[in-house]
Amino acid sequence: MNFGAVKIVDNGKTSIDIINEIIKFDDQEDAFYVLDIGDIINKHKTWLSKMPRVKPHFAVKCNPDSTVIRTLAALGASFDCASKYEIEQVLSTGVCGERIIFANTMKPNSHIKYARKVGVKILAVDSDSELCKIKSIFPEAQIMIRFRCDALKVATSLGSKCGCDPTIEAPKLIRRAKDLGLEVHGFSFHVGSLCGETAAYIRGMKISLDLINYAKALGFKNAEIIDIGGGFPGETNHPIDMFADAINEFLNEVDPSIKVISEPGRYYVSSAFTLACLIHGKRTVEEKNGTRIMYYVNDGTYGSFIESLLDITIRIPVPLNKPASEKTYPSTFWGPTCDSYDVVVRDCDFPEMNVGDWVVWSDMGAYTICLAGTFNGIFPPVVHPFITEKKWKSFCRDLELISEEGKMIDGRKRD
Ligand code: PLP
Repeated sequence: MNFGAVKIVDNGKTSIDIINEIIKFDDQEDAFYVLDIGDIINKHKTWLSKMPRVKPHFAVKCNPDSTVIRTLAALGASFDCASKYEIEQVLSTGVCGERIIFANTMKPNSHIKYARKVGVKILAVDSDSELCKIKSIFPEAQIMIRFRCDALKVATSLGSKCGCDPTIEAPKLIRRAKDLGLEVHGFSFHVGSLCGETAAYIRGMKISLDLINYAKALGFKNAEIIDIGGGFPGETNHPIDMFADAINEFLNEVDPSIKVISEPGRYYVSSAFTLACLIHGKRTVEEKNGTRIMYYVNDGTYGSFIESLLDITIRIPVPLNKPASEKTYPSTFWGPTCDSYDVVVRDCDFPEMNVGDWVVWSDMGAYTICLAGTFNGIFPPVVHPFITEKKWKSFCRDLELISEEGKMIDGRKRD
């Protein structure tokens, strides 16, 4: 496994220290990310210790950074891919097809063919047409029927696009799969991204168990997987304990033959990425009610901040270095394009900054850089991965353990 791009830094160094070093020594002007690999490793270990029965498949779509994928691959994690290209990327790290689920419910024919060729067996489905497609291209696929199970409190609901109705459509799809001679292996749901309702997972698992019973009664003896999807928080100081406690408590009563998997995206990457932007423009606007300041920074809604455009998150930066005065002004941070939708945050209270100062946003790993385009000729920020020496050594020890045991692809067995 090649970790050549990862910088090993002195113990105790933080993302902010690394940002300061990059700015100081590299004559930096463009926006950039630092990626704390130690944080990704901690997330994986935390998941395994807090929800030992739920096998995580990192949702690559959330942030397909190659160092993140290589790190998780080396740790023995599994993956949720949405396309042929994501599958290719994960396979290129040496992961075998069995550690990948193809969780996009609508797949082009060539992507299904590719999945078959490379041994990705579990395919999510929520429609009759997809069952028919799979029947003709990949009849031995392991079908996972996705049903709708929206959390009552959630930042981004996915249910209007993906997931069949669990009471009428799902049983119909099970029957249809039987008629087509396909193999139903389980059921999945996604409560929505940034879920604020633990009970949603319990609802989904109860429905899955009912559907498993129904499928078994129809003769699907391999119907034994529950996929609880993603939706878990991943920001700094947002632990998953509340979710883990509720899910574990429910699973205590569930037959151990039922396999439980998940597709966390945000959880793994949010807190590991910190974005640094240069203020390259400033306008001070004197108004009747006082002074407002507009800053122009080199990443925006057509780059890392699409969630700001969609009103999903409000992201207020912090000054990289202590400002000269603590007095604040209503301040707007515009992105680098000429477009007026390109605004990261409006009228937040902020101390006065100057052109040439840097601001940073933490918790920037999820649904940021992967959504960035090149509008106005502005390119997505480069990622600088780092790890502290201590973490690196312990990571290398973990990797040795995995290679010694050869087939150990499931990280849970190590701890
Ligand atoms: N699985 C599927 C099928 C998804 O569509 C998504 C997000 O859109 C995820 C997993 C990851 O969700 P999250 O980042 O909220 O954990």
